[in-house]
Amino acid sequence: MLSLEEIVAALKEIVGPRFVSANPVDRINYQHTLAYGAFRSLPDVVVRVESGDDGRHPLCEILRFANEHRIPVVAKGGVGMGISSPLKGGILLDMLGMDKVLAVNPALQYVIAEGGASVYSIHYALREHGLMLPNYGSYGPAVIIGAMVNKGGVGYGMTRYGYIADLVIGLEVVLPDGRVVRLGALANDGTEFGPFQKWIHLPDLLGLFTLAAGSLGIISKVCLRAIEGRREWLHDYCYSFRRDQLEQVQEALLRLVKGEVVFDIHFTDRWQYHWPMEEGLYDEAKIPADGWFFLKTVLFARDSEELAYKERRMKTIYEERGGIEVAEIADKAMGAEAQRRGLHGWPDYHIMGPDGWCSTVVRHTGMFAVTSKMYPLTFLKEMYDLDEAAKRECGLWDAEHSPQHDSYVTRDLAIKEEYFVFYNPYDEQDVAKLRRWMGKVHEFCNKKGVIWTAPTLATKGPFPFERLGNLYDLIKEIKYLIDPNNILNPGALAQG
Ligand SMILES: Cc1cc2nc3c(=O)[nH]c(=O)nc-3n(C[C@H](O)[C@H](O)[C@H](O)COP(=O)(O)OP(=O)(O)OC[C@H]3O[C@@H](n4cnc5c(N)ncnc54)[C@H](O)[C@@H]3O)c2cc1C
Repeated sequence: MLSLEEIVAALKEIVGPRFVSANPVDRINYQHTLAYGAFRSLPDVVVRVESGDDGRHPLCEILRFANEHRIPVVAKGGVGMGISSPLKGGILLDMLGMDKVLAVNPALQYVIAEGGASVYSIHYALREHGLMLPNYGSYGPAVIIGAMVNKGGVGYGMTRYGYIADLVIGLEVVLPDGRVVRLGALANDGTEFGPFQKWIHLPDLLGLFTLAAGSLGIISKVCLRAIEGRREWLHDYCYSFRRDQLEQVQEALLRLVKGEVVFDIHFTDRWQYHWPMEEGLYDEAKIPADGWFFLKTVLFARDSEELAYKERRMKTIYEERGGIEVAEIADKAMGAEAQRRGLHGWPDYHIMGPDGWCSTVVRHTGMFAVTSKMYPLTFLKEMYDLDEAAKRECGLWDAEHSPQHDSYVTRDLAIKEEYFVFYNPYDEQDVAKLRRWMGKVHEFCNKKGVIWTAPTLATKGPFPFERLGNLYDLIKEIKYLIDPNNILNPGALAQG
C-alpha cells in the first residue's frame, strides 16, 4: 500500500503539481455540499482534472493508477448534494476543468460537452444556435452535466421532457482500468454520419452510467438532444387553489400532463410565499387570501395560434376545477421581472442569490433540509396529507420552519416532490424535531414505493434495496465486473 506522500507524488507526476492538494483547508472546502453536515468524510487528496484544447485529459492515467493501488476515487461536480462525499476517503476529482462544449449540431439538434461542463454553459452555447435543452433547473451555474446525468437531475421542462438523463443520447466513459468506452450516439463518432441517435445495433448500455452516482465509470463526454427554443416561446402562468381543493389540483395536473399541453408545471404551497410576502416582494392584495396551492405553469408556443390553443386548454382545465389565475406570482417569480435579473433573459428561477425564494426564507428561518423523491401523481393528495400530519406532529408546521413543498410534475404522470423544512442547526431540539420528521417521511415513503432522488440512496435504510430483489444483486455483479477493486465512489450505492 502506498503512503499518502507517495500517492500525492504520483498524482503530481500525472496532472502537474498545481492540480494536486492534500492541504487540510482544501480538503475541508471540497467536502462542503448542499447536504451540509450530513456527510463529513474528507478526501485524502484533491485532484483538479483539466482538459486541453486538443481534448486531452489525464482521467485514464489517474484511474489506472488508482485502480492499481486500490485507492477510492470520487468525481465531484459543482456544489454537490452529498452524493459526491468521499465516504471512504481517497481521491476527490474536481471535474470543473473538463468544461468544454465541444460541438453543437443545429441540423441534427444535439450538443456534445465534456463531463465537467456546466449545464449553464451548455445552455449558453445552444442559444447561439436558436436551440435549448428543454430542461432548465434552478441551480444557475452551480452544477455540471456529468453530475446531473449521474444524480438524476431535472428542471423546468420536466413535465414534457423528463430527466436530464432522458436527453442523453451518447456518453463517453472512462472505466476504472483506464479504458475509454463510447456508448449510444457517440459510438458512431468518427463515421461520416457521426452521432445522430441513441440506439445502435447492440444492446444499450447508456443506462448503466446514468443515475449511477459515479460508481461505474467517469463520464468524459455527454451527447444531449436539444430542441429549437427561444425565450419568447415560453409563457408563464400561476394558478392557485385552496387547501381543501387538493383533489381538484391532482385531477387538473393529471389532465394537463395527459393532454401534453404544458411544457412544465411546478407545484408549490403557500409556505413558499409566506416570507417573500412578509418582505413585501409580492403585493399581497393580488394573491387570494385563501390560496394554498400554487401551480407555476409554463407553456411552450411558437406563435399566437399555438399559444391561444394551449392557453385555452390550460385555463379550462384549471378553472373548471376551481383554480384562480395569480399573475402576481407568474410575473414576479417566473416571468419578465425574475428573468430581468437572470441569465440573458432566459429562465432562471432564482432558488438562491439575493432574490431567490430560498434565500428569502433562509433569512427568516435557518438552514434547509429536503427529502427528494418521485411518486405517482395519483397519490399527491394522500402524500401531502401524510407529510403535513408528520410535520404537525413534530412541531414543524409553522412559518419559522417554512415546511413547504417545491415539486416538478413529470411526464411519467408522477411528481418529483421536494418536502422542505428549515431549521436551526445550532438548536439540538430543532435538529431532533427534524430528524423525527425525516424518519416518518422515510417510513411512509419507503413502504409505498417512492423512488428516492437525493442525496444518496444509502441514507434511506435497507428497504429501497430489498424491494429491488435480485436486480440489486445483478447490479452488484455488474459493478464487480467493471470495478472489481470497488474504487469508484465506494459506498454510494451500497446498502446500509
Ligand atoms: C442551488 C441549487 C439548486 C438546485 N436546483 C435543482 C433543480 O431545480 N433541479 C434538479 O434536478 N436539481 C437541482 N439541484 C441539485 C442538482 O441536481 C445537483 O446538485 C446535481 O445534480 C449534482 O450535480 P453537482 O454538480 O452538484 O455534483 P455532485 O453532487 O458533486 O455529483 C453528483 C454525482 O455525480 C457524480 N459525478 C460528478 N461528475 C461526474 C462525472 N463526470 N462522471 C461520473 N460521475 C460524476 C458524483 O460522484 C456524484 O455521485 C440544485 C442544486 C443547487 C446547488
